[in-house]
Parts: sequence; structure tokens; C-alpha cells
Amino acid sequence: MEPSTVTFISARATKWSYKESLAGRFESALRETKLSKYIKPKEAVAVKTHFGSEGAHRVVRPLFIRKVVQSIRDKKGKPFVTDTFRMKGLEYLQVANENGINEHACGAPVLLADGIFGNDNVSVPSGKLQGEVLVASAIHDVPAMAVLTHFKGHVNAGIGGAIKNLAMGGLAGSSRNHDWKHGRGGMHSHHMEGVVTWDQEKCSLCDQCVEVCPLEACSFENELFYFHQKKCWRCGRCVRVCPEGALDLPFDEELFHQGLAEASRAVLSTFKKNKILYVNFLLEIQPECDCMPAADVPVIQDLGILISDDLVAVDQASLDLLRKSPPLPDSAAEDKEIKKGEDVMLRLNEIDGQKHIDAAFELGLGNKEYALINK
Ligand code: SF4
Ligand code: SF4
Repeated sequence: MEPSTVTFISARATKWSYKESLAGRFESALRETKLSKYIKPKEAVAVKTHFGSEGAHRVVRPLFIRKVVQSIRDKKGKPFVTDTFRMKGLEYLQVANENGINEHACGAPVLLADGIFGNDNVSVPSGKLQGEVLVASAIHDVPAMAVLTHFKGHVNAGIGGAIKNLAMGGLAGSSRNHDWKHGRGGMHSHHMEGVVTWDQEKCSLCDQCVEVCPLEACSFENELFYFHQKKCWRCGRCVRVCPEGALDLPFDEELFHQGLAEASRAVLSTFKKNKILYVNFLLEIQPECDCMPAADVPVIQDLGILISDDLVAVDQASLDLLRKSPPLPDSAAEDKEIKKGEDVMLRLNEIDGQKHIDAAFELGLGNKEYALINK
């Protein structure tokens, strides 16, 4: 198999002109990408990104989203900017607005692909783990897409790259009949009971789990934790924010990686060949996902932007660049005493992101061999 092409725009700016800035070189790289290969005139194009959270501001900047939107318009495509339900839909659109992801800044309408209640979806065959998954309707129906990913760490996946953005981010949270097993949360709890458990001895009643739950699926009454099994979509956010380790949700790392690959395949199956472009932003590389309630400082210096039409190659190239990069001082990397030469994300999250890249490769979703073209 021929290596796939991955374009790399370095974050360094060594000349004081717009043309030589990251934004200027990104714009010219998009022009050279020949978007007409992916988009037909009048075709709707989803620009999939992550809207962040109230306290997680290190999302893909509206400046870059706007450049992608403009390039799509230049080819007479009809872009819209989208993500899927992470918290109550209207609140999530407000978060997007506060993070600058709005029509005014991005130049295209901003909407939730699975609707404001997170249950607007189409069931699609995926693989042996979930059988079928609930792909967000707007992503299922749209003919073309640009997947804009803020590349960073992730507590369950090791890294949050394009595969994760497509797999987890392309699915609806749940369905109208509370079918969490085939939604996004099902990927956190394959073949398991999927019940959040509480250890009263450890709990300090800080209420953080209740505050972070997008669905009011956990609560306290008379200082006792109540878990609402039917409402909960198993996103695991309550478990992740609990400062005392008092909550647990069964998790199997190997199945999680495999599930990401299978869900990516399901989302890809709703597109014809050559209809998706991936743009990974290796900027503000923080340790955790943009859905967490806060964003820590970066653990690796800004590296740049990668563009490819190969899902596997773009994540492989991104991870390879991260592996070569030294940890930053005064960051979570220093807290963990990570040294130069070590794999920062692997040490930080103790989960190997390479595994879901390998799983996606095994499913034939792309090529791990790539040629990096420097711009
Ligand atoms: S896993 Fe926790 S945060 Fe997520 S929906 Fe269930 S109770 Fe809420
Ligand atoms: S986040 Fe943890 S410690 Fe705080 S109330 Fe919830 S279970 Fe208890």
C-alpha cells in the first residue's frame, strides 16, 4: 500500500508576516488541498468539531474553523458547524457560543447533529461489540464532512484524535427509548452491566458528580447516592470528576479501543469514498478531553496542524509527533515527573492510544504508513 499523504503546518512562525503565520499557512494549505475532490457544489458539508465545556476553553479556535468554512464556501459547498450532545443541548449551544463557536465567528450555522435532546439518530451496523450504533442524524445524512480535532490526551482512549472525534463524537448520546448500549456511552461499558457504583465510605458529599452529570441521572437524598439507571447514558463523567474515587463504572481498555474503531467504521459507512477530510490541531495539547469541566495547561508545546484524507494516517502522524516532543514544565507532565524521551501521553493517562489506531488499521479504515509534507 502506498503511504498516505499528511500535510504538516508547523506552529512556529519565524517571519513577521501574515503569509508566514500559522493562520496564513493553514489558509494556503487548505487552498492547495483541492477541496473540490471532496465537495460538490451545493452539497451540505458538516464541519465536525468539539464545542468544549464552560471551563474547557482549549477547543479548536473559531479562527481556524472559519478558514475551513470559507474554503468550503469557495468550492460552493454549504457548510454547517456541528457537534453532538454532551450536556443538555441548549446549554451546550450556549457553551459553544461562549467559546466563540457561533455563526458570527465561524461563518456558518452551528447546530447539534443529534438534536437538542441528543436522541436524534439513525441505527447503523458497527461490529461484534455493539452490533449497531446510533449515528447522529445530521452526520448520517450529510454527504461530506471536515473533521476538525483538537488533539490532546484522554483518560479512556490515551489520546483524543480524529478516530475518537469520529467514533465517540459521531454518535448520539442515547435514543428515544433510552438505548444507551448503542449510543456513545455504550462504548464505555462494553459487555458489562454498566452500572455506576458508589462507595459511601470514600464520599465527601462534594456534589461534583451531580453538577457534571448531563442528564440529572445521579443525585443525593439524605446523603445517599441515587443512580437512575434508565436515564444514565454511561458517559463516565461523574466517575472522572470524583475527587475521592468514590464512584466506579466498569471499564475494559481493550474493548474500548476496539469499540472506537468499530464505531468509526460505522460512521464512515454512511459516507461515500473520499468525502471526509481530517484536520488535527496539535495546539494547546492538554492532558484531558475538552468535555471535562476545566482545561489544564498544555503538557507539550504547540506543534502545528495536520491535514489528511486518511483517518488512520492523520492520527498516527499526530501521535508520532507527540512521542518525539518533550514534556512542558509546570504542567501535569511535571507533576508526574515525566522526562524528555518518554511518551508523555502514555505516562500521563497510562492508556496506549496506539491501540485504537492499530484497531482502526486492522479494520481497513486507513494506512499507518504516511508521507509527511511540510508546509
Ligand atoms: S455516567 Fe454519571 S455523569 Fe454520565 S449520565 Fe450516568 S450518572 Fe450522569
Ligand atoms: S463526586 Fe465523589 S465525593 Fe463528590 S459527592 Fe460525588 S461521589 Fe461523593
